[in-house]
Amino acid sequence: METLRTLILGSGPAGYTAAIYAGRAGLSPVVYEGLQPGGQLTQTTEIENFPGYPEGIDANEMMDDFRRQAERFGTEVRSAVCTKADLSTRPFTLTFDDGSTVQTHTLIIATGASAKYLGLADEEKYRGQGVSACATCDGFFYRKRTVAVVGGGDTACEEATYLAGLAKKVYLIVRKNHLRASKAMQDRVFNNEKIEILFECNTLGLFGEDGVEGAHLVRRKGEPDEELFDIAIDGFFLAIGHRPNSELFRGQLELDETGYIMTDGPSPRTNIPGVFAAGDVADPHYRQAIVAAASGCKAAMEAERYLQSENL
Ligand code: NDP
Repeated sequence: METLRTLILGSGPAGYTAAIYAGRAGLSPVVYEGLQPGGQLTQTTEIENFPGYPEGIDANEMMDDFRRQAERFGTEVRSAVCTKADLSTRPFTLTFDDGSTVQTHTLIIATGASAKYLGLADEEKYRGQGVSACATCDGFFYRKRTVAVVGGGDTACEEATYLAGLAKKVYLIVRKNHLRASKAMQDRVFNNEKIEILFECNTLGLFGEDGVEGAHLVRRKGEPDEELFDIAIDGFFLAIGHRPNSELFRGQLELDETGYIMTDGPSPRTNIPGVFAAGDVADPHYRQAIVAAASGCKAAMEAERYLQSENL
């Protein structure tokens, strides 16, 4: 069976940065692209906050650059998806959906996270045309316009507050009659006159000719005083949580209560020596490409050190 020195799962900024560093260190890394080649960024349009691109860059083009840079230093990119990981014996054994099985001395997990969506057909229809799950990524495009944020947790409050700094008006659509967010975050939202909270509201659909122009909402769904109404908006932001793509490792790696892989403080080391986690799969807080890239760099450096210390 093929035995690699470094296998990287995931092809977002964390995975490819790990590959660039591992490649330059002579580890002959193999990247498995996974379900979403290029990672979550490929769902957005333009990237304006990644240093080095003063004019901004198309997200797919940027991820293509990452890939080419990794390949330049000897990274092999494969398109299979990992279906099973056995970390109980060394080298670690991974199985893929094309039927192949590969062993590796070090594993860098950069499988990312997936934003949760409501499951409306219109979210798919208007994706990249007014629907977003990342205010920091896309908020800038809504300067002086009207947007809605869905959710009542810390992320939703943080994103609504961030967007209120740019937009003319922000609706916060909350399904319950109260916010789940921390008191401090709630206060920020309540004290911001640009934010209007729509409690006990659910979204039924979106409408618009060339992109989002509004949302159909229902207040107190199923109650005798249920009310249907529309709001006019240019952007619809989901902030109902993220799901880290860590299921393969449940029961093997330490995960926090929401499924994020636990690492040794700011290092990407997991509880299993030789296994490292980088990017959003281990980051419930920042979820930014630049942060993911930095952690990918750290993971590759740690992998190199580990291989050296084990004479592998
Ligand atoms: P949370 O799980 O805390 O909140 C999700 C929110 O989305 C809830 O209000 C929930 O409603 C709502 N929601 C979920 N599904 C739906 C749905 N189908 N329709 C409508 N609303 C829905 O996720 P967050 O991302 O906000 O936070 C995750 C973790 O990260 C938390 O521990 C949070 O404290 C932390 N965090 C901390 C920050 C900080 O300290 N600055 C910033 C961001 C996150 P309901 O309440 O009804 O369940």
